[in-house]
Amino acid sequence: MKVKTPDSIDIIKLSNIFIIMNKNKIKQILKNILPDKRIIDDEILLEKYYTDESGKRFSYPILALLPKDEVEISEILKFSSKDKIPVVPRGRGTGLTGGCIPLLPSIIVSTELMDKIVEIDSENLMVTVQPGLITGELKRRVEEKKLFYPPDPASLDSCSIGGNVAENSGGPSAVKYGITKDYVRTLKVITPSGEILKFGGKVKKDATGYNMKDIFIGSEGTLGFITEITFSLLPLPEYRIDLLLAFENISDASYAVVKILHSGIIPTSIEFMEKRALEAAKKFLGSEMASQKGEAQILIRIDGFTKESIERIIEVLDSLSKELKCIDILVAEDKNFQDKIWTARRSLHDAMVQSSFSREREDVVVPIKELPQLIKEIHSLEKEFKIPIITFGHAGDGNVHINILKTEKDDKNFDENLDKLLFRILKTTVNLGGKISGEHGIGIYKKKFMRMVFSEDEIKYQKKIKTLFDPLNVFNPKKIFPDD
Ligand SMILES: Cc1cc2nc3c(=O)[nH]c(=O)nc-3n(C[C@H](O)[C@H](O)[C@H](O)COP(=O)(O)OP(=O)(O)OC[C@H]3O[C@@H](n4cnc5c(N)ncnc54)[C@H](O)[C@@H]3O)c2cc1C
Repeated sequence: MKVKTPDSIDIIKLSNIFIIMNKNKIKQILKNILPDKRIIDDEILLEKYYTDESGKRFSYPILALLPKDEVEISEILKFSSKDKIPVVPRGRGTGLTGGCIPLLPSIIVSTELMDKIVEIDSENLMVTVQPGLITGELKRRVEEKKLFYPPDPASLDSCSIGGNVAENSGGPSAVKYGITKDYVRTLKVITPSGEILKFGGKVKKDATGYNMKDIFIGSEGTLGFITEITFSLLPLPEYRIDLLLAFENISDASYAVVKILHSGIIPTSIEFMEKRALEAAKKFLGSEMASQKGEAQILIRIDGFTKESIERIIEVLDSLSKELKCIDILVAEDKNFQDKIWTARRSLHDAMVQSSFSREREDVVVPIKELPQLIKEIHSLEKEFKIPIITFGHAGDGNVHINILKTEKDDKNFDENLDKLLFRILKTTVNLGGKISGEHGIGIYKKKFMRMVFSEDEIKYQKKIKTLFDPLNVFNPKKIFPDD
């Protein structure tokens, strides 16, 4: 039987059978671009490419490809756009909103073998990397040269730097140092039709033409394939200290975050954790927390180039402690003790998974003044809906992780009311001037809420940018924008 090549961009109408019949043909063509061993078609090996850390699956990968350079990616994209086969870029699959999950039978192009540091340019305080490099590895490698790449998503030991650029990831240190986009200086990108483009330069300022690189940052792998990134670096601060502040109630803790930010000091991070989150972490890690005091805690990191500069900040915090209504302060100067505290903080995501049958998580962000009100309203919704909601997150930049937990297997109340509760949480956030995602992106799960944030015209112009780069709509299709 002769297999016809599709001539319509409406790949949705293609039956899965068509793709399966074509799998061998597709593989045959791709063998001209990549060696056989870097084309994955074995069903067991393909398993990991179905999903990301959200754990859901919708369609299936036809094949997963492991290119080693931009020329291979360009050739893959030329082929896939010519034959209108959907392509999904993938980093390390730690995304939480389904960005790298195929929604149609697709070719997955993974960056896992593109994990090299191309150049550390100490003189210009820049580093150039391939996209598959693990973020934590980048941080460690530049630290060996007394340089500092500040962004620090909690997943830093498992996510890729390319994924961070695609999601515009942030982490605790955003309070002082900002997020991924603040460090991107140059981006090499391959368009969905295979053209190789380079935007930006090894410069701090650039008023030359449109700021094209910023269109790709946070575009969640829907506009082009990022193949090389140059980041700016800072000198490595030599001193860091952590403070753990305990509070009698959640409200005092959230007001304390705002007061600290108004006090004239700039901590590196201010993380907020409810007692219930810490209890889950204790269970998950099987070890005592550094402090179990209070109904909520704030973890503050301070860094600097001199001991004196840090001591000055501690003095200010100490003088504020009464006004902050803080009931206990623990100071961690020792690296092992600091690691223990941050391991607990970074384990909260996994601890939430372990302590529930299923969970929905939101990563909303509000203007910092509204943080206490947001947390208050979320806990009123918890009472109203009778569904457990645990909050923690990067409170110092207004970004809160909201975990809605199903704690009993057959919890009908959870199943029946979850959508309503989600809607109310997001609406509350938007009413406070906030956004429905601070760092995890929109992907699959939040696209239905985009109209809560954007007008039809605002969505229309964003879609026009997508169409400009991907007129055939085959590059990570059906993500970000609400279904028509
Ligand atoms: C325990 C845990 C903690 C987390 N903590 C944080 C946190 O503190 N802050 C935060 O921001 N996020 C956090 N995340 C979310 C996640 O780690 C980030 O979104 C991360 O940037 C994803 O990187 P990745 O390599 O896993 O990307 P993937 O999940 O593989 O992909 C994410 C998106 O990027 C696209 N993409 C990947 N590589 C490329 C490329 N080279 N070119 C174009 N598009 C590409 C994909 O298509 C997809 O849309 C956490 C996740 C977990 C599991």
